[in-house]
Amino acid sequence: MKNNIRAIIEGWSNYFQGSGAVALAQASERATICAACPDAKYGKHAAILPDAQLGEIQGHYCGVCKCPLSTAVRSSGYHCPKNKW
Ligand code: SF4
Repeated sequence: MKNNIRAIIEGWSNYFQGSGAVALAQASERATICAACPDAKYGKHAAILPDAQLGEIQGHYCGVCKCPLSTAVRSSGYHCPKNKW
């Protein structure tokens, strides 16, 4: 649980700072996988988490863990709950 909280905080931090342990190229690879995943759901995150860099997942969250994808793909500590990345 503690590691999950760290991963979530790191993802949000990387989102707002535009950098971090997960390079944009890696976040982009993850975003491509999520965009094609049937578990990616569109929510209301786009209003508070606009994502021009990873537009394919803007406003989406993971239907399995409920995390906003824009922060999840930018976290080094977050792992896809279905092991797709
Ligand atoms: S994190 Fe995994 S399960 Fe969730 S939307 Fe992305 S690929 Fe699908």
